[in-house]
Amino acid sequence: MDALNYAKSGFAVFPLHAVKDGRCTCAKSDCSSPAKHPRTVHGLTQASNDPSFVKNLFSCFTYSSANIGIRTGKESNLVVVDVDTAKGGRIEELYNFVPKDALEKTLRVKTGGGFHLYFLYPPNVEIRNSTDKLGNKIDVRGEGGYVVAPPSMHISGKPYEFLNNNKLLPFPQAFVEKLNAAEPKAANGTERSKSNDLETYFNGNRNDSLARVAGKLRHAGLSQSELETALLKINAERCQPPLESKEVLQIARSIARYDVGQEPTVDFETIKNAGDFASLLLTKTANACIEEAKLAPTPKTLFDDFWFEGEICILFADTGLGKSVLAVQIADSITKHSPIGHFALEAAKQTVLFFDCELSQKQFEKRYAVKQDDILTNHYIFDNSFLRCVINRRAAMPKRFTNFEDYLFFSLEYEVARTETRILIVDNITYLKSQTETAKDALPLMKELNRLKDKYQLSIMALAHTPKRDMTRPISVNDLQGSKMLSNFADSIFAIGQSAKDSSLRYLKQIKVRSEEKIYHEENVALCQLIKPDNFLKFEFLTFRNEREHLKHLNEKDKAELIEKVKNLSAQGKKQREIAKEFGISLGAVNKYLNLKI
Ligand SMILES: [Zn+2]
Repeated sequence: MDALNYAKSGFAVFPLHAVKDGRCTCAKSDCSSPAKHPRTVHGLTQASNDPSFVKNLFSCFTYSSANIGIRTGKESNLVVVDVDTAKGGRIEELYNFVPKDALEKTLRVKTGGGFHLYFLYPPNVEIRNSTDKLGNKIDVRGEGGYVVAPPSMHISGKPYEFLNNNKLLPFPQAFVEKLNAAEPKAANGTERSKSNDLETYFNGNRNDSLARVAGKLRHAGLSQSELETALLKINAERCQPPLESKEVLQIARSIARYDVGQEPTVDFETIKNAGDFASLLLTKTANACIEEAKLAPTPKTLFDDFWFEGEICILFADTGLGKSVLAVQIADSITKHSPIGHFALEAAKQTVLFFDCELSQKQFEKRYAVKQDDILTNHYIFDNSFLRCVINRRAAMPKRFTNFEDYLFFSLEYEVARTETRILIVDNITYLKSQTETAKDALPLMKELNRLKDKYQLSIMALAHTPKRDMTRPISVNDLQGSKMLSNFADSIFAIGQSAKDSSLRYLKQIKVRSEEKIYHEENVALCQLIKPDNFLKFEFLTFRNEREHLKHLNEKDKAELIEKVKNLSAQGKKQREIAKEFGISLGAVNKYLNLKI
């Protein structure tokens, strides 16, 4: 039975995370629901029994197959009784009101810690999810719920299996009555709370719901630490899938700001967004910063000191200098786990998603083949973990998106999630920005890339065009358009410069680094040549050089102008050192110009 067969049988299915190398494919070290939570951002709402839709949806997960979730409820005509024997659930408890025979005659599935009994959804009543109502550790999955179905793999390494081939029996009337029965009175005669009729909080209202519960608990007098404990438990038991612990703690903290007994006026919108991007700033004690830094693993290089794992790196250059060539070469190097000449590659071999807004397929082919008598031949063979992604011009924007950018970001996240890539290269961000490009417009884009980076632990390289720059001056961050914004949101930045001496020579220069010291600075740029010896256009490292040697030298007229500018700046009170830096000339030259009498 695969997802398609379930769909053909009328079950609404959707993909769940799976087990890969003993871990949940979400790759979060603190995943609270391993191999059981929805694989895509849409989750349960995407469940479908349309065979062609399901076929497409599941075919996405080629790198590790997805577990299968079946949506329970009317839509699938399904109610499932979940007996958690590992936690002490006993099917015998059900024999009290439904004959043993009847329970054995319906479809039964082995789960990670017990089994599932599948029943047809009863007409004219609504069966909701419930916990412990039919018996201790015996839950019901109905409207708004889902179950993990065979042959999904449990995190324990054992598959979900059918224990028989029986047809589904109707959901027993005795169960319906039991579920609808009045709440039992507790021994002391007071009404028991409706704790058995637990509401499940789904993706989209989990934050709100937890915040509301927290507000009530705070009002009742709970301390912050009590709130934290309570919310973590509620999160684990009622949120589907559970929120990350840090988000839950954030809610507890927000609510604990209110005095005990004070009715909190909770700003739900703020809390809802807290997990994503509530504040632009992050405040911690200096000591906490040092402690965190100690614990952080030493990042591994993806492309020497220019780009480390887990970083958002910007590569910028004038048009035509070979940004895309270098980016493809880097992607090729990572996917083949083979360093580029002199440049170190420490990270493991892994999948790279290369979002190409620049080249057509034909142009791409041309770069990685040999042309003989007007025919492209001897094509370069890339590793199959090198994924190339382009804009699908035939896609029509769904109604729920109000602008192209949102649709694009959403699609980008979808591709990242379904290809399970950890490395994203965007060629180039100029394309992703709106037409009326200003520095301000880079902000949502960089925020979005940062969000993706955090959510999927991505390493991102974003390529950016620069306007034609002054080749007499060293490359600086000011050559990057919208530099302030982009620079704030990038961990590292490097640039390609063209040698004024020889137009086939390029040099790589670090502009911003996060943790290490700059190696490829002004006096030590990596000089490379752009060559295509066979079927692969590439950068080849030559040597280290001073950038100044490769800047354009001035003719007499240019020189006279420069001297004039140097004198003006000096008259304005600028230091000689600053002037030297401003124009990319030596201190000696500045001194000489200032002493010239023209
Ligand atoms: Zn997970």
